[in-house]
Amino acid sequence: MSQITPPKYIRQILFTLQARGFSAYLVGGCVRDIIMDMAPQDWDICTSALPEDVMVLFPDSRPTGLKHGTVTVVMGSKTAEVTTFRTEGDYRDHRRPDSVTFVSDLITDLSRRDFTMNAIALSADGMVSDPFDGISDIKNRTIRCVGEPMLRFSEDALRMLRALRFSARLGFTIEYNTLTAIEAKAQLASELAPERVREELEKILLTARPETVSAAISFGLLQRYIPGSGWKTPNFADIAKLPKKALNRWAAFSIMLQKYGFIPSVFDFLSQLRLDGRTLHCCEDAAEILKEELPTNKLGWKKLLNCYGVDAVSCAVSTYEALSGISMEKELRAVLKSGECFSLKYLAVSGDDLLELGLRGPELGEMLNFLLEYVMEYPDNNRRELLLALAKPEDS
Ligand code: ATP
Ligand code: MG
Repeated sequence: MSQITPPKYIRQILFTLQARGFSAYLVGGCVRDIIMDMAPQDWDICTSALPEDVMVLFPDSRPTGLKHGTVTVVMGSKTAEVTTFRTEGDYRDHRRPDSVTFVSDLITDLSRRDFTMNAIALSADGMVSDPFDGISDIKNRTIRCVGEPMLRFSEDALRMLRALRFSARLGFTIEYNTLTAIEAKAQLASELAPERVREELEKILLTARPETVSAAISFGLLQRYIPGSGWKTPNFADIAKLPKKALNRWAAFSIMLQKYGFIPSVFDFLSQLRLDGRTLHCCEDAAEILKEELPTNKLGWKKLLNCYGVDAVSCAVSTYEALSGISMEKELRAVLKSGECFSLKYLAVSGDDLLELGLRGPELGEMLNFLLEYVMEYPDNNRRELLLALAKPEDS
């Protein structure tokens, strides 16, 4: 089937469970990756053993999600998630089951999983259990719900965003019934916790197909965050050219949305999605920077860096590239590599030095800023003796 075999510690976990009479299988993304001959990033195991049995068999394990039957087994420096076979009760809020029940049967566990490609189990000795024809869907590069898509999306609306995320990451097509169910059930996504939506969106933005966010918007999955329809659809595909960093990609995405009239404010949009403070401020500053032309000389770049900091300027530069196709990365990097001073942190004198010279209060602050402006213009003069001489009050 594939050249990839699970590492020794994973086989050890599977064998240990089996030796005690439990069934145990690899499941989910790692099996999908093995079938596609891709190296799995993490290993999920499902088992008939109850969480307390798993904790006894692996004393170093951590009870990371006991309510859902998940235990993180620690093997030296490595970990694996081991989850008890389970079935889920009703989903009254479209986001989480009211109850979960542990079961002893693999197929019941596989049927609660989202897509056929994620509902395949693989045992340590290579036995495959594929009750929903996930392997043929993987071969046909198709994303298909396990069971009735309308029902599955009503249960957990996040699955609609997961479908788009997998299609962005793997380049798979969403099967017709699954796709029409996303259209029909999209409004349920408004009830999801913003953190879960943000996680999926961020994963989409970090793939090679960030333009998939357009589908999320046009289906209405992001209605709660992007109520406007905009006057033109931005070319989100260009986000793929940017560094694979969440910060840069959030900046480009949110600034594009604002520029084309989808959202009134970058800051409000990102705070509704519960982005962290650093990302919020960086993206807001990048939007501010892009209201003006980017600098055309070194001094201009240094002034910008001094005012907004490296992260915000870097986000502005990458967003500018996504919007215009013009890369200013080289110019920015040249300034950063030059080692020339653009902030008080790199100035050859400090506030304490000026205190010693007798300067105080606003006068001291003004002098520091004057010296900084001076060395930004004359970088070779960022020398302690010279700056102290300049700062020395005339009557001392
Ligand atoms: P990745 O490679 O991104 O980790 P994954 O398929 O392993 O992809 P996870 O979010 O790690 O995705 O989930 C592990 C497995 O749990 C999935 O493959 C799927 O079988 C099941 N699963 C996860 N989230 C859901 C959900 N919301 N509804 C149903 N099944 C889910
Ligand atoms: Mg996974």
